[in-house]
Amino acid sequence: MKKIDSIIKNNNKTDLKHDFMDACKDKDFKEYIYSLNIKEDILMKYTSTLQDAFQEEKNCNNCRSLSTCKNKLKGYKYSPNKEENIIVFDYEICSKQAKEEKNKNYEKYIKLYDMPTNIKEASFKDIYKDDKLRLPIIKYFKEFIENYKQGEKTKGLYLHGSFGSGKTYLIAALFNEMAHKGVDSTLVYYPEFLRSLKSSFNTNYEERFEHIKKTPLLLLDDIGAENVTPWSRDEILSPILQYRMDENLPTFFTSNLTLEELEKNLATTSSGVDSLKARRIVERIKQLTITEHLISKNRRD
Ligand code: ADP
Ligand code: MG
Repeated sequence: MKKIDSIIKNNNKTDLKHDFMDACKDKDFKEYIYSLNIKEDILMKYTSTLQDAFQEEKNCNNCRSLSTCKNKLKGYKYSPNKEENIIVFDYEICSKQAKEEKNKNYEKYIKLYDMPTNIKEASFKDIYKDDKLRLPIIKYFKEFIENYKQGEKTKGLYLHGSFGSGKTYLIAALFNEMAHKGVDSTLVYYPEFLRSLKSSFNTNYEERFEHIKKTPLLLLDDIGAENVTPWSRDEILSPILQYRMDENLPTFFTSNLTLEELEKNLATTSSGVDSLKARRIVERIKQLTITEHLISKNRRD
């Protein structure tokens, strides 16, 4: 009986070796499996599964787009991994699928109101290699990312500087970074937001207003460029800031104006001059933020 067992075993071994050698006639396959750094006697046991994995690898190398993915599980590659004396096969995510998931992640965590969608691409790696004048802002960002805890008071930034200096981009990059940590944020192009909020009185006005008040991180982009009215100042901006102060919600602003200029801007409406109301708003902004001036060339060309 023992003898028969051993004959069967030897026959199996011969078959495995035969199939393996046969498969290795394909030079590309041979190169692929040897690049795995796994011993031949182990590889041999998985010839046909390795061939499947190799086919998927080839599909990936010739891939044009996710929609034409030829692999069994779209966006994934069946791949071998060595574990002690066996090979474990797993579905590995491909770079295109990973990018798509990142975008979905973006939509999940970041809401844009009237903002150009290209700021979705804003990334930290573009900021680090930039000029030294940004160092205080970068330092602030690092601390913010390390220290941010929901519900705890963390100051935002009041970032002012000339048109095209990259203010919006910087804050967008910070919010993108925070999205990777699962923190929700909202970026609002403030002048346009006011216009669209006004025209949504009969629809989702309340919902939009509440969202802006309560979003964990908020950017009011380009404050000071709006047409100031008593309504926008006293019914919209003022309660938003008050709420965010009370609830310790980090709030960011970008502006072409310094805080002094903003105060003047907020004082004057078609109904006259109200310096006190303007000062109160600027006081709130000061409590909510650290002021930074961004000096840079115009990056819009
Ligand atoms: P601002 O808000 O100060 O007017 P933006 O943030 O809109 O300026 O930047 C102007 C343009 O330059 C945008 O198209 C933006 O995408 C690009 N930009 C700004 N900063 C960077 C950067 N660090 N790396 C790459 N592109 C940038
Ligand atoms: Mg801007």
